[in-house]
Amino acid sequence: MTIVAVFNQKGGVGKTTTTLNLAAALARRGGTPCGIDLDPQAHFSAIAGVTAGAGDDTVLSLFQRNRPLSELVHGAASGIRVIPSHMELSKVDTLFGKGYNVVNRLNVALRAERLGSGGSPVLIDCCPMIGVLSLNAIFASDCVLVPVSADHLSYKSALQVEKALRALEPVLKRRVKRRYLLTRFDARRRMAREIQDMLVQQFGEEVCRTRIAENVSLAESPAHNKTVFEHAPSSRGAQDYDALLDELTAAGFFGE
Ligand code: ADP
Ligand code: MG
Repeated sequence: MTIVAVFNQKGGVGKTTTTLNLAAALARRGGTPCGIDLDPQAHFSAIAGVTAGAGDDTVLSLFQRNRPLSELVHGAASGIRVIPSHMELSKVDTLFGKGYNVVNRLNVALRAERLGSGGSPVLIDCCPMIGVLSLNAIFASDCVLVPVSADHLSYKSALQVEKALRALEPVLKRRVKRRYLLTRFDARRRMAREIQDMLVQQFGEEVCRTRIAENVSLAESPAHNKTVFEHAPSSRGAQDYDALLDELTAAGFFGE
């Protein structure tokens, strides 16, 4: 398993934080992860320190000109390789239709270029809606990681994600391997414990045992364009993402 889509159609649940810091945890252990920013807001690209002046240097040109992904990879200080996004990526939803070839384009490109092989996992940061971009991420992925912040609206959106994945499975002709990840978890709050119990009751073994705690270093590091490992390596946030990597590796997500 090497290509992971980090997806939830709700915003603010920790998709970008998770993509960035899980990739950073992989890089710290000597991997050469690649992060693909599929959100036109381009927060992942910006925090990783990769801002593309023109859409042509971004993942947009895969859709517009079928440019090879290898031409779009930028190196970042954290050791993550980044395929950046651009505001104009929002055009993809209206420009090219929603046919199978369009939603399968990233999958074809990643497999053709073997970007997710040889110890180089690919993590895809999705935008908060199910459109052409997120479908591309899901079609390309070996596994979908669904961050769920510990609140009721986020729990509801997890149920919607599950429904969407089930609806896609007949098209994909496979069961989508997925894990639900509790984020912004504050064990002192009753609501957080309630959401945790509801999530486990609903999704059982597909809920990560690792909880990502509410942590100020995770919230602050984007302001410095840093991963949590660069900004505060001994913080709870860094420990949690390290533990998440251990758990996902043990579950076979990042093995060849
Ligand atoms: P998404 O990509 O799903 O929209 P983000 O990763 O951008 O969500 O997170 C939304 C906000 O919450 C950001 O300001 C981020 O820094 C903050 N955040 C995310 N995870 C945590 C956490 N575990 N503790 C504290 N703040 C967090
Ligand atoms: Mg985001």
